[in-house]
Amino acid sequence: MTHSPTTDVLICGAGAAGLTLAIDLARRGVDFVLIDKAEGPFQGSRGKGLQPRSLEVFEDLGVLDSLLAAGAAPYPTIRAYAGETFTDTLLGEDAQPTPAEPWAMPLMAPQFLTERVLRDRLKALGHAPRFGIALTGFAQDADGVTATLETGETIRAKWMVGADGGRSFVRPALGVEFPGETRPGRGMVADIRLDGLSREVWHNFTGPNGQRISFCPLAGTDLFQLQGHAPDEEDFSVAAVNALIRQRTGRDDIFVREAPWASTFGINARLAERYRVGRVLLAGDAAHVHPPTGGQGLNTSLQDAYNLGWKLAAVLAGAPESLIDTYEAERRPIAAAVLGLSTRLLSQTEVKRGREARQLDLAYPESPLSLDLGVAAKIAPGDRAPDAPCRGRDGAPVRVFEILAGANWTLLASGASLAIAPRQGLAIVAVGPDGDLIDAEGWFADAYGLPTDGFVLVRPDGYVAAVGRAGDEERLEAHFAQFGL
Ligand SMILES: Cc1cc2nc3c(=O)[nH]c(=O)nc-3n(C[C@H](O)[C@H](O)[C@H](O)COP(=O)(O)OP(=O)(O)OC[C@H]3O[C@@H](n4cnc5c(N)ncnc54)[C@H](O)[C@@H]3O)c2cc1C
Repeated sequence: MTHSPTTDVLICGAGAAGLTLAIDLARRGVDFVLIDKAEGPFQGSRGKGLQPRSLEVFEDLGVLDSLLAAGAAPYPTIRAYAGETFTDTLLGEDAQPTPAEPWAMPLMAPQFLTERVLRDRLKALGHAPRFGIALTGFAQDADGVTATLETGETIRAKWMVGADGGRSFVRPALGVEFPGETRPGRGMVADIRLDGLSREVWHNFTGPNGQRISFCPLAGTDLFQLQGHAPDEEDFSVAAVNALIRQRTGRDDIFVREAPWASTFGINARLAERYRVGRVLLAGDAAHVHPPTGGQGLNTSLQDAYNLGWKLAAVLAGAPESLIDTYEAERRPIAAAVLGLSTRLLSQTEVKRGREARQLDLAYPESPLSLDLGVAAKIAPGDRAPDAPCRGRDGAPVRVFEILAGANWTLLASGASLAIAPRQGLAIVAVGPDGDLIDAEGWFADAYGLPTDGFVLVRPDGYVAAVGRAGDEERLEAHFAQFGL
């Protein structure tokens, strides 16, 4: 009898969710296999909006600088034409970076560019997706999953993650329902090279029959993303696209030269009833699909992966399996709220994305991982841990995000030292004039507002697990046991 190759985690799908999970597992030294049924990388611009919270996640994963170098840039102004005149508006309410929130506005990067940067990071960590390999079946028992691939090969994994998109194979195979709605009509999205429009603004037109068409200059490329109601006939030849443009814009000076990628999509809002069945988990569009309004789908998908990565690593290293259940407990309510936001934006004629869309206020207050010790501060258990420019022991500038970066838990303790024994996976950082982190300008106090003998415990994914003060050590130790620290 031949034995299946074994791995700790089989990730099915190398889109934004699968790649993010792979990077997080790779940097933690977890063994995994990443497969994708597509013959090669995804070529379209589809999800082009990266929200501020995702940019913070990318900073931690070591991909933000490469993404900026690849051309990720702020959104241009939206220009809506009405006959000979036009009105310019901002995509979202304007906001400026603050010491606590280094990214206030979303950046644009076409999805193929974001995924390329993620693959490059994965490569630097010594891994690559295996393209052209579809998952075709699986069976699970108490210890793991035996997955069958299109090649006939089987792989034995302790855990499997279905990050296989809205048309997931894994979700229905698990028998997980996907309730929600599909709205009438279809949208189209295409990447085009054209003459006749400036790259300074996002051009929006409404045709004589109310059908829209827009052209967004895609950051980091010489392409425009064309979006609009899908035509009755799905012909995306250059001639057909030019005819459609003339009909909807009424202009004869816009000429498409090339249309390297085009696709249509349905307007769906659906949420999986469960994110976990035994040793199989769902992440990204496999667990929730959104209308494209609000630019939330890809962001929610990669943040699912970021929530799951450290938990899988901890359980594989011996933490109680119940830690995995906090993934669904934390992420499913987020997807439900995001779905509400995307569908609400869909029914507005003028798209105005507010703070809600930026995902900085997403929090897990009800999570079993959030320990309430009854200490008042500016942050509470479940909140995103804010950034703050400080100084190190040597006086050099250091941001709280740099301290929190990496695979560890972090205990930031101000004032009195805590009676917490050092342990693997936990960084204990003293905050104060003689500490590791000096709050020279008061930004840390401003963002965290801890009592003088207070501490904050921050999870590996940058969320606050507990806020306490000297004397709370015993309860903190008991809490550590939940996640194997
Ligand atoms: C027009 C449009 C605009 C959008 N704009 C935005 C935006 O501005 N911001 C935003 O956040 N989101 C946006 N989105 C949504 C975004 O594109 C998706 O949410 C995102 O791609 C989800 O990532 P994912 O990794 O979960 O799934 P996917 O990107 O769909 O990746 C799934 C992968 O799984 C693979 N796969 C499938 N089945 C199998 C199998 N059996 N075996 C192996 N592999 C398999 C597929 O080949 C694919 O590569 C937009 C979507 C559309 C259509």
